[in-house]
Amino acid sequence: MNILILGGTAEARMLAEALATRGGIRATLSLAGRTAQPAPQAVPVRKGGFGGADGLARYMREQRISVLIDATHPYAAAISANAARAATLTEIPLLALRRPAWDTVAGDQWIEVDNVEAAVESLGQVPRRVFLALGRKEIAPFAAAPEHVYLVRSVDPVDPPLAVPHAIYLTARGPFSEAEDRALLERHRIDVVVAKNSGGDATYGKIAASRALHLPVIMLKRPALPEVESVETVAAVLAWLDHALTSAASRGV
Ligand code: NAP
Repeated sequence: MNILILGGTAEARMLAEALATRGGIRATLSLAGRTAQPAPQAVPVRKGGFGGADGLARYMREQRISVLIDATHPYAAAISANAARAATLTEIPLLALRRPAWDTVAGDQWIEVDNVEAAVESLGQVPRRVFLALGRKEIAPFAAAPEHVYLVRSVDPVDPPLAVPHAIYLTARGPFSEAEDRALLERHRIDVVVAKNSGGDATYGKIAASRALHLPVIMLKRPALPEVESVETVAAVLAWLDHALTSAASRGV
């Protein structure tokens, strides 16, 4: 079985690790190439876009891919749409690994917005101290609200910097604990957090810390993703692949 994993997430890395030692399986991990020094991976990696759904379909045919696993970030809607289209074009089975979204719990003060522009709007006119927990390529619209002070945390440096007079930049790679994030929010006297509903544990620290500190969170809603067969955990992907391998063996494929 020749598997292509579309990655860029902790789950994709864990899946690659689990598959690296399995008999009867060859796996390749595909990364968008956004981070300068991505985490080491247990299987061969290819980087960069494929050139849309047609490019991905061509790649899969050329590489004789037998199964496609979409383990991309829940906000990476374009590549997920391409995966669905390419799977249809090639008739290669596709399974999506979709991390469940976080739900509010008592004490959360979430303001859900449709996109980054709406997040900027919802900051209002009164100057605030804002923690931007977004990708470095997503924050440019905040230049339209230069009255606020921004704390920006990203894996790679924000270059060019945000065109506002008051911004503080931190480079760090998660996971981040609640204690760490609470200390960060307190140190910078943050009064509002802007975040994506990424799900999972690695970046939940800021959400729990905001709740503890009674801070509002402006939460970007998840984008719509194509309706394809999907599971929520790495273990479920492995079980799905085992089942596919067993049925292929019983058919003598
Ligand atoms: P996107 O909007 O879905 O993808 C844009 C293009 O990047 C795709 O059309 C594809 O180019 C290429 N691409 C994306 N993921 C790829 C992969 N795994 N392998 C090969 N090419 C890939 O995704 P995005 O621009 O990366 O990010 C959108 C949102 O997801 C942001 O909120 C970002 O912070 C979040 N996110 C993304 C990643 C990631 O690894 N992509 C990780 C963490 C968070 P072609 O059409 O040319 O194939």
